[in-house]
Amino acid sequence: METLWSALALLSGQRVCTRGDPVRQTVYLTFDDGPDPEHTAPLLDLLAKHGAKATFFLVGRAVQAWPELVQRMLFEGHAIGNHSMAHRRMSAWRPGPEGDDIDQVDQLLCRFGARHRALYRPPHGRISPATLWACLKRRQRVMLWSLDSHDYKLAAGEVVQRLRDRRLRSGEVILMHDDQPCAFEALEVLLPEWKHAGLRFAALA
Ligand SMILES: [Zn+2]
Repeated sequence: METLWSALALLSGQRVCTRGDPVRQTVYLTFDDGPDPEHTAPLLDLLAKHGAKATFFLVGRAVQAWPELVQRMLFEGHAIGNHSMAHRRMSAWRPGPEGDDIDQVDQLLCRFGARHRALYRPPHGRISPATLWACLKRRQRVMLWSLDSHDYKLAAGEVVQRLRDRRLRSGEVILMHDDQPCAFEALEVLLPEWKHAGLRFAALA
């Protein structure tokens, strides 16, 4: 899959990425599907405790419901990205509502001080030709990931094991979610270990 994405990155003029800047020992944590009224705040507390910055790919409807969490993310030095308005699957081949959806969430995020064109991560990481076309037309950068934590289907202990087994490379983008407790529970264990190993955690630029 990563080969396909790398090819896509080249074809799109690096507009579709799976990795962040390969700054030495720097890893990029990303959290999708929030903000969440129950799980986002404890995660922000944990990141703050370890001086880790991250990127949150936000669902527009949740941003409208919990704006104070978005303000807190930005205040604490995290980055925010566009993860669609309602997390619906987009049509695979026919040009559909992708462009309008992207614009709507970008405008929403702008009100919090995000840059005009936020990083975009399509729901389910699914880039249809129509989505790609909408992004290229807008000169929007699409950020996927290089390492999926599987926190949406594994128990926290299994996520810890899965990520411990991988030698993290500089520029690694890790996919996690903040609409459930698994990421928090796994990172409570992993962040101290990773920091001890000399890794740094930055927000995507
Ligand atoms: Zn998602």
